[in-house]
Amino acid sequence: MQSGSRSIVLSYAEAVSVVAEEARRVKDGEALRSERVALRDAAGRVLARAIDADRDQPPFPRSTRDGFACRAADLTKPGIRLRVMGLVRAGEMWMGSRLDAGEAAEIMTGAPVPAGADCVVMVEHVIAEGGTIQVMPGREPASGENIVPEGAEARAGAVVVPAGVRMGPAQIAAAAACGVTQPEVFARPRVAILATGDELVEAEEQPQAWQIRNSNSWSLAAQVMTRGGEPVGLHPSAPTPCAPGTPVLPIVPDDPEATRRAIESAMGCELILLTGGVSMGRFDFVEQALLALDAEFLFTGVKIQPGRPVVFGRLPGAKGKQYFFGLPGNPLSTMVTFALFAAPMLAALSGENRHEPAFGMARLAEEIVVKPGLTRFLPARREGSVDGTVVRRMAWQGSGDLASAAAADCFVAVREDAERMQAGEPVTTLLI
Ligand code: AMP
Ligand code: MG
Repeated sequence: MQSGSRSIVLSYAEAVSVVAEEARRVKDGEALRSERVALRDAAGRVLARAIDADRDQPPFPRSTRDGFACRAADLTKPGIRLRVMGLVRAGEMWMGSRLDAGEAAEIMTGAPVPAGADCVVMVEHVIAEGGTIQVMPGREPASGENIVPEGAEARAGAVVVPAGVRMGPAQIAAAAACGVTQPEVFARPRVAILATGDELVEAEEQPQAWQIRNSNSWSLAAQVMTRGGEPVGLHPSAPTPCAPGTPVLPIVPDDPEATRRAIESAMGCELILLTGGVSMGRFDFVEQALLALDAEFLFTGVKIQPGRPVVFGRLPGAKGKQYFFGLPGNPLSTMVTFALFAAPMLAALSGENRHEPAFGMARLAEEIVVKPGLTRFLPARREGSVDGTVVRRMAWQGSGDLASAAAADCFVAVREDAERMQAGEPVTTLLI
């Protein structure tokens, strides 16, 4: 801890609730900007305006089977033969008259069920003969079976996808089904990424023996983009070019004044992410620089591993509160602390209703033995099937081990009070 800043080290649960509280504040606070995008570009964007059904869905009672529409009451009479009055297929209306007792209409999946009919017998369950059908014994459908009633999925005007939902394939399909081809979505929050460290060089540079390449800006850019944010200020070789006019934010040397200037140049973004320089080392100046800018710290450490020195707070900015995270520089610490704490803030700044980190459930393949006292996130790999997901911990050399992280696809969460977790035990996984 640098002079002047108060140490606020929280348990994992406390830190989660601090972030959740700030995320709620953002969500309830000032209106976020929105824009219209083409449906093809809507994946990953958060809806700013709900998608409403423009008509009943389905717009007619829809058959879910190929078969015969008829009256369920008829089928209670043993051995009854029904007269086939015609055929209706998807893409046309039934042109015949209302079906009467003793009548049936051949029908295809997706076609409107003729008036008078209240069930559909599957084609596999009938014996057809000379313009009539007989339902195989024991295969009689009940009233309503194999029909989705008009408006059962959504009534005209009803909300099909509420605002605040991040759009994935199903939400995009729902928009298309409602005729919304230009959904209104929230603007992507701009996220400044500042890597600090005298030992760092850019990824395309050839490091000296004592130098290392800046990898954190890249993992963060990927995480920011996956979560719907726009990384800004990255070196020009970064995955997305900066918006025109945004300054490139070069690697920040371990110097309090340079760090302060770098943070100042990132003001105006919705979120500032710094990596490195938050530990107890003599050249860790991030907190000091933030303090010089009148930062308010919400926490300066969390009892987790990796990522214990993570810092969260806000700066007085032109637009009000300017949130920042100081993420520890070890590459796995950076990734894990982003996923646990920065991702929920980014979700809120994106206008999303849900802010929690991406957690999953799995069963442990092998036992885990740890020292209690810290909530741990251990790199691991999942193998999933419909019977459940099994997760296997990876060997690792600690929080700098990118090779282990690259072979992993999640982190197994170990509660702070746990010492031993048995093989087969259900565990939470953190997805990055
Ligand atoms: P720090 O948090 O600054 O004490 O850094 C902890 C460790 O993470 C050191 O071994 C750093 O060299 C490494 N590190 C810091 N920043 C980065 C970065 N941007 N990319 C890769 N490694 C980093
Ligand atoms: Mg450093």
